[in-house]
Amino acid sequence: PESQADCDLLVLGGGPGGYSAAFRAADLGLKVVLVERYAQLGGVCLNVGCIPSKALLHVAAVIDETRHLAAAGVSFGEPRVDIDTLRAHKQKVVSKLNGGLAAMAKMRKVTVVRGYASFTGPHEVEVEETTGSGQDKTGVRQRLGFRRCIIAAGSQAVRLPFLPDDPRIIDSTGALELAGVPEKMLIIGGGIIGLEMGTVYSTLGARLDVVEMLDGLMPGADRDLVRVWEKLNKPRFDRILLKTRTVAAEATAEGIRVQFEGLDGTQSVGVYDRVLQAVGRSPNGRKIGAEQAGVAVNERGFIPVDAQMRTNVAHIHAIGDIVGQPMLAHKAVHEGHVAAEVIAGELLGDRALAASTFDARVIPSVAYTDPEIAWVGLTEDQAKAQGIPVKKGLFPWSASGRAIANGRDEGFTKLLFDDRPEAQGHGRILGGGIVGTHAGDMIGEVALAIEMGADAVDIGSTIHPHPTLGESLGMAAEVAHGSCTDVP
Ligand code: FAD
Repeated sequence: PESQADCDLLVLGGGPGGYSAAFRAADLGLKVVLVERYAQLGGVCLNVGCIPSKALLHVAAVIDETRHLAAAGVSFGEPRVDIDTLRAHKQKVVSKLNGGLAAMAKMRKVTVVRGYASFTGPHEVEVEETTGSGQDKTGVRQRLGFRRCIIAAGSQAVRLPFLPDDPRIIDSTGALELAGVPEKMLIIGGGIIGLEMGTVYSTLGARLDVVEMLDGLMPGADRDLVRVWEKLNKPRFDRILLKTRTVAAEATAEGIRVQFEGLDGTQSVGVYDRVLQAVGRSPNGRKIGAEQAGVAVNERGFIPVDAQMRTNVAHIHAIGDIVGQPMLAHKAVHEGHVAAEVIAGELLGDRALAASTFDARVIPSVAYTDPEIAWVGLTEDQAKAQGIPVKKGLFPWSASGRAIANGRDEGFTKLLFDDRPEAQGHGRILGGGIVGTHAGDMIGEVALAIEMGADAVDIGSTIHPHPTLGESLGMAAEVAHGSCTDVP
């Protein structure tokens, strides 16, 4: 019962969703317990996702950049990569942030409990202590009562059932362990995670094949953006198999022998030193005893929530990967803040806080490949499919002073404005896509413009610093508005 609670709020899972919620709730004055099975906070994103992948992608981008410099008359020898030092560098990046999170939890007096939590009732979890690896349970159990709870137990990589159990077959976590660089690597799944890891391994020397069921790589992004990436990245691949399924695999002494089947029936095989499965992630909804608390979990393992991140049980919220797509850290963080505010508002009697809702219009997506691909809001392909007329402003980086100066003018910036004459928001920006170096750092401005309901004049007449890549946003808006007469 609520009266026997050990805390106001128990947060189940210490990833970006969970720690953000815990910190916000503690800042608002609640007594918070955060349960995490691993010794370190940060979840998938910090420990085996966003951050280690970006540490490695940065190194890959610098190596690739040295090659681009040949065109400017500067050449280097082939890089000599000490894989052990690179691995240690990546771990140092992660550890620094782990330390930061632990310090922030301590500063806020958030009690961190290490162990695997399962609901035993609507106001209680049982936590079984784990060893640092998070896998092994010690058998030591404790029960923790709570007034409110936020489930932030995240997701895990999907495993293809027909792949044999073999150390040469890895998921993104295995890929980030950087055990070595294979000669020939297969990436199953041509989405962001697979292609980011492929970028790292190919820059370190691996030859790649990629197999994707759909008719294009990087599903979700507009094809014109992806084509720019494809043109520059084709040399990394021996084969790009589209509309093709992986149907079987066998571990042999020479390598993993994989069988493919095209949607048109074509059969083919490949033999690989390493196979990366990157076919998506599944939520952990069925692994936390949710039924004991009466929390509904759908057939795919997601926990349905409303705009206040509330489950079907009024005092239990859920956030992050476990509540649905897109499975992105910035979405989890934002949802965590909403849930924490609603709960604090209700417990402290603050009506404004209690009214907090997840009302983001858009959530940006970024592939941190080289070049980067970033998009937010309505894509051009979606506009076409939904019959929404849009006015497009496209600014090619071949006309950007900065991109040319950088020797990287292959990209472009595209903005889409509402062209429905009868629409209330006629002229307002609906979406945008950028392909090029640092695209991910620029897409936030497009998200802001969409949230603010900006039109092409607002963006085009905002003075952007010259010469920058970000200036291309103003130019694209001017193109859409028909006022672009010169180029920087
Ligand atoms: P998680 O990060 O999954 O955290 C959940 C936590 O709960 C984990 O620490 C887990 O140990 C713990 N837990 C689960 N069950 C229990 C239990 N029963 N008891 C105790 N603890 C439990 N997103 C981006 O936005 N940008 C990126 O660049 C990006 N790159 C990625 C790269 C890779 C390789 C991968 C795999 C993912 C990437 N993501 C990226 C996605 C991002 O990592 C997730 O969206 C994010 O981590 C989700 O946060 P979360 O808090 O919902 O869950």
